[in-house]
Amino acid sequence: MAHCANAVLDRTPEEAVSFQPVNTQAGQTRPAGAAPPGGGGAAEAVTPPGYAECHYCTVVKKRRSLRCRRCVGRLDLRDRFIRAAEERPRRRVGAIISLLFPGLGHAWSAHPAGGVFYFVLIAIGAAYFTTLKVEPNLGRWMTLGALASVWVIAALDAARGQGEARPPCQEGCPARLACMHYVTHIREGRFLASLEQIMHLCPLPASIGRVCHHPCEKDCRRGREGEPIGICALKRFVADGHHGAVRDFYRSAAPAQPVFAEKIAVVGGGPSGLSAAMVLRVMGFSVTLFEAEAEAGGMPGAAIPDYRLPQDIYRREVAAMLESGIETRFGRRLGRDFQLPDLASEGFAGAYLALGCQRTVRLPHCGPPEQGFLDGLDLLKQAKVGSAPRLSGPVLVIGGGNVAMDVAKTALRLGASEVRVIFLETRETMPAHTWECDEALVEGVMLVPASATVSFEINDGRVASALCKRVQRIEFDEKKRMRPVLWEGTEFVLPAATVLTAVGSSPDYGIFSTPPSRTPIWKGAFVGRLPSAPGVTIPVFYGGDYLSGPASVIQAIAAGYQAAEGLYRALGKVSYARPPLWNRMRRVRFSGYADTSALRQRNQMAMEKPADRCTSFCEICHGYPEQEAISEAERCLRCRWMIAPAPKQARKPQVRVSGVSGTFPKSNR
Ligand SMILES: Cc1cc2nc3c(=O)[nH]c(=O)nc-3n(C[C@H](O)[C@H](O)[C@H](O)COP(=O)(O)OP(=O)(O)OC[C@H]3O[C@@H](n4cnc5c(N)ncnc54)[C@H](O)[C@@H]3O)c2cc1C
Ligand code: SF4
Ligand code: SF4
Repeated sequence: MAHCANAVLDRTPEEAVSFQPVNTQAGQTRPAGAAPPGGGGAAEAVTPPGYAECHYCTVVKKRRSLRCRRCVGRLDLRDRFIRAAEERPRRRVGAIISLLFPGLGHAWSAHPAGGVFYFVLIAIGAAYFTTLKVEPNLGRWMTLGALASVWVIAALDAARGQGEARPPCQEGCPARLACMHYVTHIREGRFLASLEQIMHLCPLPASIGRVCHHPCEKDCRRGREGEPIGICALKRFVADGHHGAVRDFYRSAAPAQPVFAEKIAVVGGGPSGLSAAMVLRVMGFSVTLFEAEAEAGGMPGAAIPDYRLPQDIYRREVAAMLESGIETRFGRRLGRDFQLPDLASEGFAGAYLALGCQRTVRLPHCGPPEQGFLDGLDLLKQAKVGSAPRLSGPVLVIGGGNVAMDVAKTALRLGASEVRVIFLETRETMPAHTWECDEALVEGVMLVPASATVSFEINDGRVASALCKRVQRIEFDEKKRMRPVLWEGTEFVLPAATVLTAVGSSPDYGIFSTPPSRTPIWKGAFVGRLPSAPGVTIPVFYGGDYLSGPASVIQAIAAGYQAAEGLYRALGKVSYARPPLWNRMRRVRFSGYADTSALRQRNQMAMEKPADRCTSFCEICHGYPEQEAISEAERCLRCRWMIAPAPKQARKPQVRVSGVSGTFPKSNR
């Protein structure tokens, strides 16, 4: 097997870039006296593109006393996490105030213009109502109804807070990453600013840039008349170019000493647990991570094959999160080495359980490993640490999901002469993503859709072939388990020297007497909360794959952030004071964009040749070089708001902006 040299590491040495304040265009640094609380010396935040205060005011309003007024762009990471956690309850307060005194709620929510509008509307409505005849009649009731509706709408509008409508790509991302902003920073050559935008909500940028299933790209507006922006690949580009910055990001953002007295326990060191632990640590809690295995990382570290996610890249990002000051206890399994009530007796004030999906589904008609029946996930884990058995002869993979595709491609790399994947669904309805299937087909994997194995022929104690039948339709039982109806008379035989099963996994709720509810803490969240019970005396949240079932890394990360937010509130840390910040940022409108046939086409990333892929576990996709990345970012339509161009002297000379036309304001004021 070929030796795998990590191309990314070769290109960009780890020490190449260490984290610097990102607002570097005008040599701007944090204003005097505005050091981050907790003394973390964190990087200065940037204003999202599309806003004309802060990022550009540093240039335009140079030497003017107004230049460093407070705005969201000036918040350090800790303040941003806390602000995000406090936003929801504060918005609720805004809505309540608006219900009592329409207009005032908006002033609370920091958009007073809306308050004036609704106050005037309701005042006019009320004045008109008083002029109507006193006896009840239809007109009077209708006016009263309209007035009440406006009253309620005003409260809903006040509950929006400073929130803005988001571009479709951001709506599509489970973590609500500000794709438009970081793509625009890349276009303008501000790669560190872009990385900071990403790392605010995605602590594993290089890994996510490789494995995310990018639902954002499905919703990308550019995709309606061409190919969507390579949002995921652009994330990988900035992260690969700034390993040092990734490494220092959370370490410099976390307060040196805990700010709050409460200790939090996070159980499970996968993406979800790690994200929650990091956010809580940066917020100022003392955090202890319990992990059953000898190192943190969860499924991406243990099972996602190296040809998609090289181990060293993922490990480095996990280490960067742990360096925020998280205490780790490895080899400690909840349910075996300690129990839930022990956490409270150890002095923890809250806990988050992110145990993932550890229970794999086994098929009843499959035999034992000695006969050649192996669990696909086990094989992936063994391949990751180099202890997988060599395979030979034909291999049959059962399952139609993404994991089955990984198992099939890994089997090819482990020496299988041919690999077939058999699944119940059709090619169109199978759960695996289209691009995962296409990649498998390119590598030589064969798909057998709408079929099921019925029995196996065993010769000399080893499996030799599988008897299969076509699937007529799929029905579901009361527990929503698949019950395929097979066509009689469609039997066929597939050769199989090894059978690998990859038919799903589920959370193991064995630590509870009754499985916890799958209801999230708020609509759209990926986190639940255990109700108080004799063993549960502290707030305990659970989430990621442990709540949703097998999902994705970015959803697990989003769950971690939500759990941190939930714990922050459950521990009574929320300040209900009026938001400290008026939204001082001014939006700059965009009135047009370029749309040529060239801009509709995506810049393709360089891939390893199909013939070379199966010879090793080396990464097969090589990412964008700089000019390709900038050119890809130029295709973004900046849906909703348009960035104003930076003054000429502030621009990097090599950055092309030719891909965008439109009416730009002459100045930011
Ligand atoms: C083969 C494979 C390929 C995948 N490919 C992709 C992909 O390309 N893109 C994508 O987005 N997603 C992919 N996923 C899914 C992704 O890995 C998961 O959705 C994600 O890892 C879930 O994160 P989590 O933190 O919720 O759980 P996990 O990552 O499963 O982490 C749970 C952690 O908890 C620990 N733990 C479990 N029980 C205990 C206990 N009792 N006590 C203490 N610790 C415990 C485990 O050791 C583990 O470290 C893939 C999954 C697999 C299996
Ligand atoms: S074109 Fe740009 S802003 Fe619009 S949806 Fe796509 S990535 Fe987002
Ligand atoms: S994390 Fe995934 S879904 Fe979110 S913006 Fe990045 S690629 Fe898109």
